[in-house]
Amino acid sequence: MPTSAPAALSAEPAEPIEAPARHPAATRARGAARLTLLALAVYGLFAGSVWLQVRLGLMAATPAAWYCAVSLLGIGVFYGLVRSGLSLRLSPDRSMTMAQSVFGVLMTTWGYAIDAPLRGAIVAIMLLNLVWGMFVLSSRQALSLCLLALGLLAATMVWKSRTDALNYPPVIEAFHFFFCAVLLSAMSMLSISMGRLRHKLTTRTAALQAALEKIQTLARVDELTQLHNRRHLGELLAVERNRQARSGQPLTMIMLDLDHFKAVNDSHGHAAGDTVLRRFAASIRPLLRGGDLVGRWGGEEFLLVMPGTPVEAGVELVQRLRQVLRQLAFDDIAPGLRMSFSAGVTACAPGEPTHLAVERADRALYRAKAEGRGRTAIG
Ligand code: GH3
Ligand code: MG
Ligand code: MG
Repeated sequence: MPTSAPAALSAEPAEPIEAPARHPAATRARGAARLTLLALAVYGLFAGSVWLQVRLGLMAATPAAWYCAVSLLGIGVFYGLVRSGLSLRLSPDRSMTMAQSVFGVLMTTWGYAIDAPLRGAIVAIMLLNLVWGMFVLSSRQALSLCLLALGLLAATMVWKSRTDALNYPPVIEAFHFFFCAVLLSAMSMLSISMGRLRHKLTTRTAALQAALEKIQTLARVDELTQLHNRRHLGELLAVERNRQARSGQPLTMIMLDLDHFKAVNDSHGHAAGDTVLRRFAASIRPLLRGGDLVGRWGGEEFLLVMPGTPVEAGVELVQRLRQVLRQLAFDDIAPGLRMSFSAGVTACAPGEPTHLAVERADRALYRAKAEGRGRTAIG
C-alpha cells in the first residue's frame, strides 16, 4: 500500500509538444494574396511586352489596348477579391484558383489570336496557367482546365488559319497544335498525379494529427478513470509548488486508497474492480474547486492537491467524499456492496521538497489503514 517516493515529481516537466501555427487562417490569407499579386505582376509584364510590340509595329494598337485593359482589370478584380477576403464568399478556395486559371486560359487564347508573331511563346504562357493550379486543383479540375485550354487553342488555330492564313499558316498551326497537345497532355497527367499525391498527403496528415492528439491525451489522462495520470499530475503539481513558493499560501495534499479493493477483484472479477475505480474517481471530481487537482497515483490510490487550502479544509473534503461514497451503490456488482477508503492528509509548506510532502501523506495513509481503515490521518 505505501507509495514510494514519486519519480514523476523529481522529473523535469515533459518537453511541450510543438504547438500548431497560431493563426493558420491569416497565414493562408497572406499566402493567397501574395500569389495573386505575383499573377498580377506576370500580367503586368505581359501587358508591357504587348505595349512594346505595338511600339515596334508588331501588333495593332486597338486590339492590344483592349487586351491589356481587360487582362489588367480582370486580374486586378481577382487581387481585390482575394486581398479583401470577399473571394471566400464566392468560393471555398480563397485564391479562387479555378476561376483565376480559367481567366488565364481565356486571356492566353485571346493573346494567341492577336499576337501572331509571338504566338509560339504564348503557348508557354498557357502552360503557366496549368502549373498555377497544380498545387490546389483537384485531378478533375486540372483535367477540365487542360481540355478547355486545348479546345480553345484548337478552335482559335482553325479560325485564324481560315481567316488570316498569311499570319497563321495552316501547316504551322497544325504543328503548333501538335506541340500544344503533347505539352498540355503531359501537363495534365502531371497535374493529376500531383492531385493524387496531395490527396494522399492530406489523408496521412489528418491520420497523423489524430494519432498525435491521442498520444497527447494518453500522456496526460488515465485511461480508466479519465483523471490526470501520475506523470501529468506530477507536472501540474510542480507548477503549483512554484506558485506556492512565490505566494506563500498553504497547500494541502491528500492521498486516498480504497480499502480492501483487492477483494472486489478477487470476488467479482477485474472488470468489476474497474467499475468501482471509475465510479469512485467520478465521485471525487464534483467535490473539488476550480484550482484543485486530482489524479490516479497508482492502482487504487489517488492524490488530491488543494492549493491555497489549509489542512482542515482538506479533512472536510475527505469527510464529504466519505459521505458521497457511502451513498454510492455498487449493487449491480454485488447486492449491498459498499466501498470505503482511507486517507492521509498533510500540509505542504512553501519551499518544502514535494517528495517529502508526498511521503508524509503516504505515511499518514498507512497509519489510517493500520488504525482500522475507513478513516483519515493527518501527517
Ligand atoms: P488495503 O485496504 O490495504 O488498501 O487493501 P487493498 O486490497 O485495497 O490493497 P492491495 O494493495 O492489497 O490491492 C490492490 C489491488 O488493486 C491489487 C491490484 O490487482 C488491484 N488493481 C490495481 N490496478 C487495478 C486496475 O486498474 N483495475 C483493477 N480492477 N484492479 C486494479
Ligand atoms: Mg494501494
Ligand atoms: Mg487499497
